[in-house]
Amino acid sequence: MTSIPRRAFIGIGTKATAFLLMPFPLATFLNCNSMTNNNHFDVLVIGGSYAGLAAAMALGRALKKVLVVDDGKPCNRQTPHSHNFLTNDGKTPAEIAALANLQVKRYDTVSFFNGRATNANKTEDGFRVQLAGGEIFTAKKLVFATGIKDLLAPISGLAECWGISVIHCPYCHGYEVRNEKTGILGNGDSAFDFTKLISNWAKDLSLFTSGAARFSDEQIKKLQEHRIEIVEKEIEKLEHNDGYLRHIIFKDGSSSSITALYAPAPFEQHCKIPESLGCELTEEGYIKIDSSQETTVKGVFAIGDNASKMRTVANAVAMGTAAGMMISKKMILDAF
Ligand SMILES: Cc1cc2nc3c(=O)[nH]c(=O)nc-3n(C[C@H](O)[C@H](O)[C@H](O)COP(=O)(O)OP(=O)(O)OC[C@H]3O[C@@H](n4cnc5c(N)ncnc54)[C@H](O)[C@@H]3O)c2cc1C
Repeated sequence: MTSIPRRAFIGIGTKATAFLLMPFPLATFLNCNSMTNNNHFDVLVIGGSYAGLAAAMALGRALKKVLVVDDGKPCNRQTPHSHNFLTNDGKTPAEIAALANLQVKRYDTVSFFNGRATNANKTEDGFRVQLAGGEIFTAKKLVFATGIKDLLAPISGLAECWGISVIHCPYCHGYEVRNEKTGILGNGDSAFDFTKLISNWAKDLSLFTSGAARFSDEQIKKLQEHRIEIVEKEIEKLEHNDGYLRHIIFKDGSSSSITALYAPAPFEQHCKIPESLGCELTEEGYIKIDSSQETTVKGVFAIGDNASKMRTVANAVAMGTAAGMMISKKMILDAF
């Protein structure tokens, strides 16, 4: 896996490629981080990954003046290859992001600012957003494309393997590890249901509960029928080479040789500003949206992972494009 941080990669990659692919408005690049006198926008998009960039493209193409604020921490940044996104299957997340940035930066209606939005409040005719560096921007509409943050189990080695050999989603990475000795980290009903799903991809499968198993007799019988071993030993750490899992080491000193581990993680919103503005969350923790992706606060929209459990790049892009079209259409019709 590349050790270049995504933001640095995009910085180098897009700027170098930009000069090679001229002409298009270079002003967009040169203005980054220097917009001091013109800080009012039609739409401010917080989060400039897949969902945010897709929204910015649709809005920019509808001639809306857009600002994308992003601090460069997409949730998939550690995964070596992204899958299941047509035309970009198997590319690194950084490659997909670099191309997306390059294409959106062609629009002189879209500006970019590298930084973290820290708070926002409603004004008479829109919203005022403050960044960590003290910068203030205002806009008529706000779009949150801020993603979610995985709350990884506190097991030594797990964070280093996250997205590489410790994975959350079979549709993203199951095909690549289909013939490997596979584990699932979890317990109880949700782990049982997840195991049923994963059994489609993995034939040599063990369920690691790291403590006393909480399955019904019927569930245990089903797992036995499918030759899925339940391992209750408490996990001490994951032994790996550069994120590639080799062994699970247990607290009793024994170990299990495993190369792929599914570890679905709970999550929290990556950005708390929507909640501070009054946007309601669903029971599962997603931002509540209606069919036009507007939150429970008028003029505030949410797209991508923060508002949907269909956690894929394709879905984030689809939600961003749809929101960009719907927001701009409403603004155009209202202004007519
Ligand atoms: C390990 C892993 C592997 C994955 N692999 C795949 C795969 O193979 N295929 C696939 O289709 N999907 C995959 N996914 C899912 C996919 O990455 C997400 O669905 C997708 O990234 C969601 O895009 P998004 O734009 O909603 O959020 P993100 O990509 O998470 O981006 C959110 C952006 O908002 C920024 N941000 C957040 N708060 C603020 C703030 N306050 N101010 C400024 N910026 C802010 C963040 O820095 C980040 O850049 C994977 C996910 C993970 C965790």
